[in-house]
Amino acid sequence: MQVYIGGIPIISSQRLPGKESLLIFLSGCDFRCPFCYASHILDFKPEIQEDIRHIKRQISDVRDQVSAVVLTGGEPLMQRGALLQLIKHSKELEIYIGIETNGSKPDILKEILQEGIDYVSMDLKAPFEEKLLQKTTRAGTFFRPASRLVSDLKESLAILKQFQDRIDLEFKTTIVPSLMFRKEDLMQIAAEIREIDAVWVFQRFRNEFVKDSRFSRLESPALDFLQNLRDSMIKEYPNLRIEIRDEPNPQIAVPENMTPEE
Ligand code: SF4
Repeated sequence: MQVYIGGIPIISSQRLPGKESLLIFLSGCDFRCPFCYASHILDFKPEIQEDIRHIKRQISDVRDQVSAVVLTGGEPLMQRGALLQLIKHSKELEIYIGIETNGSKPDILKEILQEGIDYVSMDLKAPFEEKLLQKTTRAGTFFRPASRLVSDLKESLAILKQFQDRIDLEFKTTIVPSLMFRKEDLMQIAAEIREIDAVWVFQRFRNEFVKDSRFSRLESPALDFLQNLRDSMIKEYPNLRIEIRDEPNPQIAVPENMTPEE
């Protein structure tokens, strides 16, 4: 089987607290977030295919160096067959296995949860409200309107709720100036997840490698600003576990035999 791959896997100690993780970037995504740092891997391109046996070998080769594999992207749920194989392979090696997803494919999410995945990080890029979700993800199309997107994301959230006792669960919201930063918007998200056992990460926007050049001119929000947002949420919903993260965006390196997007 061939897999559309977005770049050379990297080992990161920052992605999962306390774990050295192998990050595997699968290409393709159904969103077009303007602040995306992986804009060169959002499409499926023939020149960036790889035999899945090669990826499995890469996992096996670093088995003694890492304690986790994280399948990310792009949107990894867009390559169901490859995803299932990589999960199975990691489990055979007894490695903790997780995915990072935008949550737009609830059926596949359910399937991989049933396979026994250990960790899910789902983006909550905006409240479940068509206009702001569309502005944040630019994902709505004639064939898949924003209303459908809202219902798919709600379904993914409901599925994760069912599995919350069996997985490590994280939600992630990038705090982006002029786009996703208002307390009332975050409060709507908080109301949706307040009863779910998960960490909610406020990711500080960084302007490296972003898809929309206008966002490359935006400054990161101040850490104090994020802390104030967190305090406001916790005041209203004391059970929320909110973490602030401020990692540099990883530079996804394209292998020499592959052609990056101009
Ligand atoms: S930020 Fe994530 S969901 Fe958005 S376009 Fe990039 S890869 Fe896709």
